[in-house]
Amino acid sequence: MAREVWKSFEENQLTHSAAHYLMTINHLLQDQGYARVTDIAKSLNITRGSCSISLKPLKRRKLVIEDTNKFLQLSKEGKRLAEVVERNDELLEALFRDILGVDEEQAEIDACKMEHLLSLETSVKLARFLKNAKPGKKRVKTKKTRR
Ligand SMILES: [Zn+2]
Repeated sequence: MAREVWKSFEENQLTHSAAHYLMTINHLLQDQGYARVTDIAKSLNITRGSCSISLKPLKRRKLVIEDTNKFLQLSKEGKRLAEVVERNDELLEALFRDILGVDEEQAEIDACKMEHLLSLETSVKLARFLKNAKPGKKRVKTKKTRR
């Protein structure tokens, strides 16, 4: 039983590569309204062959759906995951750059490496932390407004 829980948890994990495929498809759909293997390959600077291979597990997991004309769509879950990872990337980059003072380029690299690994709880709490820690924002209100 415990082994199966572990197994299903592992299956739900998103590899770093898979996360980037989902984000790329999401961007293509937003920017041009459609996404084909050619578009993804061009966008990620890889061959169409390796792109097709990498898309297979995502199709199997029903995160990416291909129609009869070879146009790719994201399922609801696929889109959700793409958005979560994208948001994590922004949050982590802000944390490293603005709070820790990491060099901009390095902050971007490290955020990219960790973006698909955060739990939802950590992500939400990190967002709250950054909101309160924003430089230039007054943290302590001198006067409380009551309604
Ligand atoms: Zn990344």
